[in-house]
Parts: sequence; C-alpha cells; structure tokens
Amino acid sequence: MFDTKPVSRRRFLSLAVAAAAAPAGLLISQQSFAADLPALSPDDPTAKSLGYVADSSKLDAKTQPAFKPGSVCAKCALFSGAAGAASGPCGIFAGKAVSAKGWCQAFAAKPA
Ligand code: SF4
Repeated sequence: MFDTKPVSRRRFLSLAVAAAAAPAGLLISQQSFAADLPALSPDDPTAKSLGYVADSSKLDAKTQPAFKPGSVCAKCALFSGAAGAASGPCGIFAGKAVSAKGWCQAFAAKPA
C-alpha cells in the first residue's frame, strides 16, 4: 500500500521546493482569477437589497445612514482582493468583483 523505500535526498529536496512554491502559485492564480471576475452591477438584486455602490464617495448619507466615511470594500473583512487592487472578490457576491472603493450595508471592518 505505502512505498517503504527510503526517499533520496534529491527527491526530498525537489518535493520540499515544490511544496514551498505551491502557496505562491496559488496566490498568483487566485489574483489572476480575481482579475477575471466580472464587475458586480449595482442593479444585481442582492446588490440592490444591500445598497451596494461602486463608488462610496457618491453615497448620500441621508439615504444610507449606516455608511461611515472610509468604510470602503477594500477595508471590509469580506473583501479578498489584493492590496491596492481596484476591485476584488467579496464573500457575499460570489463570482463577481466589487470595487475597492465600493460599499454595501454588510460592511464589516477588517480586524486591525
Ligand atoms: Fe464591499 Fe464588504 Fe459589502 Fe462586500 S460585504 S460589497 S466587500 S462592503
């Protein structure tokens, strides 16, 4: 069932290098994937129900009193875009990219 032959030093080192490189490869592929996501439309039914806007600077505080200046998607715990990216995935809107400067009522500040 299991191979009981000793692992050669060369084989061990090649496996160690592959294991060390895997997370970097996953990160790159995740970022590439995020860049390929279509932008979330504010007209999406879920986006509408949560008051999503792609540019929070245009929010009217009277219509969205829950909005606090500076609480943008890039600072939300549900945002998984790369640091400095213009957009990225959000835990609520699977398969879509939200704007880093967007906002919705589900905003939850990233832990400091
Ligand atoms: Fe932006 Fe957070 Fe709302 Fe997602 S949950 S749209 S990241 S504010």
